[in-house]
Amino acid sequence: MKPRAKPQKLPIFIVLLFMLAVVLTILHGMPDEAGAPHAADENGSPPAQTGSPGSPGSPGPTDASEAPGATDPTRTPEVPGANGEVESDAPSYIDPDELRPIVVYPGPDETDEEEYEPLTLRMERSDIGKGNLMLINYDIVYQIPKTQDLVLINDYKTSTYEAADDAMELSISIMRPLNAMMDAFYEETGIRNVTIASAYRDYYRQQTILDDYAKRMGRAAALKWAALPGYSEHHSGLAVDLGLHIGDKKDATFTGEGSYAWFARNSYKYGFILRYPENKTDITRTVNETWHFRYVGELHAYLIKQKGWCLEEYIEYLGGFTPEATLKVEFGSEIYEIYHTTSMVITLPSGCDYEISGNNIDGFIVTFSQSFEKPANSSEPEMQ
Ligand SMILES: [Zn+2]
Repeated sequence: MKPRAKPQKLPIFIVLLFMLAVVLTILHGMPDEAGAPHAADENGSPPAQTGSPGSPGSPGPTDASEAPGATDPTRTPEVPGANGEVESDAPSYIDPDELRPIVVYPGPDETDEEEYEPLTLRMERSDIGKGNLMLINYDIVYQIPKTQDLVLINDYKTSTYEAADDAMELSISIMRPLNAMMDAFYEETGIRNVTIASAYRDYYRQQTILDDYAKRMGRAAALKWAALPGYSEHHSGLAVDLGLHIGDKKDATFTGEGSYAWFARNSYKYGFILRYPENKTDITRTVNETWHFRYVGELHAYLIKQKGWCLEEYIEYLGGFTPEATLKVEFGSEIYEIYHTTSMVITLPSGCDYEISGNNIDGFIVTFSQSFEKPANSSEPEMQ
């Protein structure tokens, strides 16, 4: 990023020039020039609004197109002049020191940090049921939205894995990380027979699966294998069951053994967690599903992996952090802050990357990082 200019003494005609530029910009709807926080999920994904931890990038009520700070009328127009100096022809009755730059919206580039206005987002109650960190389990129902960002896996997948049937769908927001994970597994092992055995399910599909289990083992046992309709992560499009292709259109159970243990070890790097680990069945109330992986985003998957927790434990843990006392985490080259809130109004530092996900319980998990760079040693003397 560029160091911030401090246009304190602008000749009046320059001020007029860029005021004209503002008007023209508004009239012609000029395209964004950056500035907009990586707010949006180009996927129009269901849920979460992402700025970018690990670079998800999601949408939400705020979308890059709404994000302020787009055009930048505070940029000084170029005026020819000797040595880049601009001649002052401001009338003498105006004290140039009183000419303040017009701050249209906090743009990370050209205003002083102290002048940044916070970014305020107003959430809807339905947003609580959207986002990568939704908790959906035996106890917490998922209100399946009328519209979801589902795509056919076969339209987006890479060649290193297969979907068990052509009609399978997932949230478009997880296709990129899923492809990355599958490609990495193939590159490291040379194995290419992993399939997606189950992906998005609607309410009726879940009912059918549960009924099948119930016929075989009775309803009580069946519920440890398949959730009640409405209580399955598969409704979100953020979960996959892996399988193994063994020829003749047959798939075997993905046990996660041998070379396939790679997934349980490495999925977090791609934002996926093994959702129902063997040592957490008392909390998840779901059998050790060695095949079920759930997308939560890279930063959160990393923290869950590091803690050795299941998603229930992680969401409970985050509930202890507030806007005033955030969880601070170093991840990659960024410091992220994470907190839980039940407020429908969320305020963030302007210019930050952020992700807001409903927890599907009572509010939101907010994740952000102050992504803009400070001017390099602006107050330091120059190196000789
Ligand atoms: Zn599953």
